[in-house]
Amino acid sequence: MALTGAGISVPSGIPDFRTPETGIWANVDPMEVAHIDVFERDPARFWSYYRPRFHSLGDKEPNAGHEALAGLERRGLLDGVITQNIDRLHRAAGSRNVVEVHGSIETSTCRECAASYGIGEVEALFDERGIAVCDACEGAVKPDVVLFGEMLPTRAIAQAQELAARAELMLCVGSSLVVHPVAALPGVTLENGGRLAIVTKGPTPYDDDATLKLEGEIDAELSAMLAALA
Ligand SMILES: [Zn+2]
Repeated sequence: MALTGAGISVPSGIPDFRTPETGIWANVDPMEVAHIDVFERDPARFWSYYRPRFHSLGDKEPNAGHEALAGLERRGLLDGVITQNIDRLHRAAGSRNVVEVHGSIETSTCRECAASYGIGEVEALFDERGIAVCDACEGAVKPDVVLFGEMLPTRAIAQAQELAARAELMLCVGSSLVVHPVAALPGVTLENGGRLAIVTKGPTPYDDDATLKLEGEIDAELSAMLAALA
């Protein structure tokens, strides 16, 4: 199985928010604005940050790294992908078994009546205050992503644990493996007799336990791996 983080989407033009940003949001801390408390207390402030982010993510396309993992799954070599990313690019690339432990921007849900809206429908919901409100009940509509301060989705976490436990090999891609819950998953694979291969720039806590560590460009490394298997 594969475990992916922000690094796999960088070649698609999605910056890792932990790296310094330039431009209008350079001085905004996502951990402060993309927080459930801000969504509940000051939804206009939340959406002033998240609405442009929604737009910019909605336009992005999968890259050779996402496509390589989808190719491995088609060949029966990959059971699934666990991802921290909310950008839905694994699904766009054709991966079928995708566990999104931080949710996805694919849908948004009304907190009052549970009406669900696809990513293409959310823009029409904004009122003059810049808040997305439900067509049916005028309740607050929230992206189906895990905000800071929110619980992780228990079902996705259970699926991720199960995939990690039965993996012969966990291919860790583009994650520094320090953020909960994915930080614990390589350990689950190791404890169950599996091995680790890491394709990530910079150190991870599991480098000494990995059978293989690659530090090149992620899309190039994964493309080369797929070509070598052909
Ligand atoms: Zn509603």
